[in-house]
Amino acid sequence: MRNLLKKTVAIAVLAAAGGALNGCTTNDTLGRSQLILVDESAMQQAAAAAWQAQLKSAKISKDSAMNARVQKVGARIVAAAGMGGQPWEYVVFENDQPNAFVLPGNKVGVNSGLFKAAKNDDQLAAVLGHETGHVIARHAAERASQNAATQVGLQVVTGVTKGNVQKAVSNYGGLGAQLGILLPYSRKHESEADFIGVDLMAKAGYKPSESVALWQNMAALGGNKPPEFMSTHPSDTTRIKGLKDYIASKGYK
Ligand SMILES: [Zn+2]
Repeated sequence: MRNLLKKTVAIAVLAAAGGALNGCTTNDTLGRSQLILVDESAMQQAAAAAWQAQLKSAKISKDSAMNARVQKVGARIVAAAGMGGQPWEYVVFENDQPNAFVLPGNKVGVNSGLFKAAKNDDQLAAVLGHETGHVIARHAAERASQNAATQVGLQVVTGVTKGNVQKAVSNYGGLGAQLGILLPYSRKHESEADFIGVDLMAKAGYKPSESVALWQNMAALGGNKPPEFMSTHPSDTTRIKGLKDYIASKGYK
């Protein structure tokens, strides 16, 4: 409880000092302000290291049909996001868990097991739209900043510059771990990514209601829920309801 209070105070103080720190930015897509204390280049550097480790330790799928589908649907989604001019890297991993993830620097991993749930291109577009949504929303940088705010809370109270915060951040643990690259996202971040993903599906010419079908397939698979895409927060039912409401409010089919 005491820790929680300390954490809340630290974030509140940092947020209040945001203007001075240049750390509070408004994200137009989200329509809310974000605490961003870490540089995009630092995030990408940490992500590149985590990605290389993943490529080395995990088994990469050579299934050409799966790889081709991910490339094709991914390209349509990022084009709809206006990010088609950037380099994107998609890799299918030989892994039975129905999961996917994105790292800063546009690196997208999709498990072969995801195709048990994503039964058509529209449903795959729901997954890739969601992951692209995390990038647009700068969720990784926001999460890392929130972690940093917690860790350097005391220094913040006594006054700190943005440079000092970044220095403090860089002193914490391993690169990927310190920036929270591999942690699951919060429920709020998951919902935001879901909704941005649905918008991208619509823009790219996919059928937004297939995102609901995807989650129903995910729920039917059951089993142990890994972090990130098939996260337990929001729960499948909360998520499905949220998507249905959002799709109805936008008049999507
Ligand atoms: Zn997610």
